[in-house]
Amino acid sequence: MSALSNRIVETFRALLGEGAGLHEPRFAGNEWAYVKDCIDAGWVSTAGAYVGRFEQMLADFTGAKHVIATNTGTAALHAVFHALEIGDGDEVIVPAMTFAATANAVTYTGAIPHFADVETVSLGLDAAKLRRHLSGIAETRDGRLINAGTGNRIAAVCCMHTFGHPCDLDALSALCDDFGIPLIEDAAESLGSYYKGTHTGNHGLVATLSFNGNKTVTTGGGGAIITNDDRLAAEIRHLTTTAKQPHKWEFIHDRVGFNYRLPNINAALGCAQLELLPGFLTDKRRLADAYIQAFESVDGVTAFTGPGWGTSNYWLNLIMLDDADPVRRDEILEATNEAGFMTRAAWRPMHLLAPFVHMPKGDLAVTEDIYARLINIPSSSQLADRLVDG
Ligand SMILES: *Cc1c(COP(=O)(O)O)cnc(C)c1O
Repeated sequence: MSALSNRIVETFRALLGEGAGLHEPRFAGNEWAYVKDCIDAGWVSTAGAYVGRFEQMLADFTGAKHVIATNTGTAALHAVFHALEIGDGDEVIVPAMTFAATANAVTYTGAIPHFADVETVSLGLDAAKLRRHLSGIAETRDGRLINAGTGNRIAAVCCMHTFGHPCDLDALSALCDDFGIPLIEDAAESLGSYYKGTHTGNHGLVATLSFNGNKTVTTGGGGAIITNDDRLAAEIRHLTTTAKQPHKWEFIHDRVGFNYRLPNINAALGCAQLELLPGFLTDKRRLADAYIQAFESVDGVTAFTGPGWGTSNYWLNLIMLDDADPVRRDEILEATNEAGFMTRAAWRPMHLLAPFVHMPKGDLAVTEDIYARLINIPSSSQLADRLVDG
């Protein structure tokens, strides 16, 4: 084990004691009671009172006007792209540094992900670099933004709040306004994260959340679409409910729709989790602060603090190696996992994955540099209980 790996394992031990998972769910409230309630009442599927209650709680928490709960975050993204009439022969700008779901959901519609670079302050899309890239490759024809190289329409930008850190939404909104395309926020990782005081997901036209088992709150599997646009909300609600027209006994579907709504039993879990969310966020911030302080004295790595323009939920904490050194990174991953502290590398950048190698892209030097330096570290909110100061 190298001296640095040793120091990192020692730092984890001093803070957390023996061993820790990366991000484990925490059921500490009304989860049993609400799920039992669904089973007792026989309302376990997409009809049932918890779905509406969960949507209302999310609307209250995020400040968004409309919330549509879905059965995964990926389904939420697909429904959004579909509702915006993104499809065959379109390109959607997505960060190369993201979880595969963002790019996958673009391809479900027949569209093509076009990968853009991230910046080091938030790990989200670099608006200035994207502006230069689009200015170089795109032109407006008949009011549509066209990639002059491929001839395809560039239909939207989908940003992502990496590990909970809000990306620079003002700069991205301005960019999208200037190029006449909508901004979509993949806010799967940023429930409880704010950009300049407003909850993430409210700055673009529409946003998506995820409640997968490893996210800040979980419904087992689940997601949501949030938007302040009335027409789009109605459209997405219809589309995700098999495009079925309300009728007492007839089944009339006015187009091909999706069965993407969240079941009641999952929503029940979600209601209980949202009651606990403020406490989770406090604990996650304490853990992040402890890491930031503890790693100050470890030469060779820095705990990531996030951008000054927002408040992060610190979904997944991370340390950055001073130098882009994948061999050293892997050696640290090996040593920490061996010692029982679950760590992992950032997602392999999208443009390096087999399904996406031939997709259009800008310069991705920062993404590749970050990929070689970044290590996610144990981040479950319950780890705050182990911190010595309380
Ligand atoms: C978790 C996640 C999603 C959605 O994942 P699901 O498992 O389908 O809920 C989408 N995008 C990002 C960036 C994610 O981290």
